[in-house]
Amino acid sequence: MPPEPVEVAILGAGIAGCALAHHLVGRGVGPVIVYDPRTPSAGATGRAAGIVTEQLWNRWDVAVTRDTKVEYAALARRWDPSAYATNGFARWTREPVAAQVLEEAVERLRQWNVDVRSLDAPELGRKLPWGRFDDIRRAIWSPGDGVVTPSTMTEIYAETARQAGAEFWFGTPFGGLGRSDGRWELRSASRTVRAKRVVVAAGAWSKRILREIGRPIPLVPYRTQAAVLRPPSPGADFFPSIHDIDTDVYVRPESNGRILAGDGTELVEVDPENFRTGGDEGFVSHLAECFATRLPGWADAELLRAWAGVCSSTPDRRPLVGPVPGAEGLLVMAGFNGFGVMRAGGVARRLAEALSAGDGSRSAYEPLAPVLPERFASGFPPFAPRPGFTLEGGDDPRF
Ligand SMILES: Cc1cc2nc3c(=O)[nH]c(=O)nc-3n(C[C@H](O)[C@H](O)[C@H](O)COP(=O)(O)OP(=O)(O)OC[C@H]3O[C@@H](n4cnc5c(N)ncnc54)[C@H](O)[C@@H]3O)c2cc1C
Repeated sequence: MPPEPVEVAILGAGIAGCALAHHLVGRGVGPVIVYDPRTPSAGATGRAAGIVTEQLWNRWDVAVTRDTKVEYAALARRWDPSAYATNGFARWTREPVAAQVLEEAVERLRQWNVDVRSLDAPELGRKLPWGRFDDIRRAIWSPGDGVVTPSTMTEIYAETARQAGAEFWFGTPFGGLGRSDGRWELRSASRTVRAKRVVVAAGAWSKRILREIGRPIPLVPYRTQAAVLRPPSPGADFFPSIHDIDTDVYVRPESNGRILAGDGTELVEVDPENFRTGGDEGFVSHLAECFATRLPGWADAELLRAWAGVCSSTPDRRPLVGPVPGAEGLLVMAGFNGFGVMRAGGVARRLAEALSAGDGSRSAYEPLAPVLPERFASGFPPFAPRPGFTLEGGDDPRF
């Protein structure tokens, strides 16, 4: 079979790759093909909690997530209203140092026009009447935050992209990526696609794909877990997403009165091809401990299932999005540090705008300046994954 020419080949049909396809074909870029050796949402996307919050650590992240939120709300209204809901997000701590940092976060977030306010323990208790908050020092609340069903939103992106002409190619084993006659070739046993530009949006797998073509980027895949539980008493169908900073446990409402809970990041590297996909006993008992002390109304919740997924960390906790230095026509959209669902729409829009500008100039990528891979062009030392819902933050004047 002769190679098939396309304008852009996207590697990976998670929420990042599918959102990018949606935004590219929406701007008239084509032909676009999305390739995945598995199925859409087979990676981290299909295992994610789907919390979308503006309680983030720099101005750029807030802007991107706000765009994503608006986009998810609009797409859900049009295609599947159950895919997105605004439920607000509350975090709290009983520790004095963390309380001080939370207070500073409120000030900082307000400067970035995030609708966020402090709550005292009684106010928090009114939002979560099954919790016990008498020893809480500080809580913060962002009413405009929401929850998305990541696999449904990915399907919506894929479907809108397909209807506008994008091709999706699933289920064929990856045969490699190479360069030939000024084009990128995406190969399988049965087919070769020749692309002017390739975007590696393959989540934790991006590390290996880029290393194999001699273009390493600083990504460390790590494992993170979640579970769905059924609390004993009904009546909690709709509540804010929450994060107990002291135990790192977060919870969001799920359908049919169930809840989805997780507990952050494992700080060691794993191989996305070979990791333990089930939930650990230690993880489940950690959730149980947190519920027993902080959310007693959920203490007897029935565990329905627990699982793990693989996310990828970068040295500075910012994603890697844009041209890979020194490799013409090669781009990456990865390294979301456990926050890729809430950023996908806004990042995809910015990358699609840059790609559709067509001239490949550095200025086209200016809206992605804080996350361009060029910041690691001179190399990077080894590093370990860092926790997800960090309290750190600050505005770098460059962003
Ligand atoms: C338990 C858990 C909870 C989470 N909670 C949240 C949350 O509340 N909010 C949030 O914003 N984020 C959350 N995340 C993070 C979020 O899931 C990820 O950041 C996001 O899904 C990344 O999307 P992606 O499309 O970049 O990667 P993925 O969804 O991992 O998709 C990568 C795709 O690449 C494919 N692939 C592999 N090899 C190749 C190849 N050679 N060629 C082409 N394709 C390939 C894979 O099959 C896969 O489909 C959570 C993650 C987990 C695991």
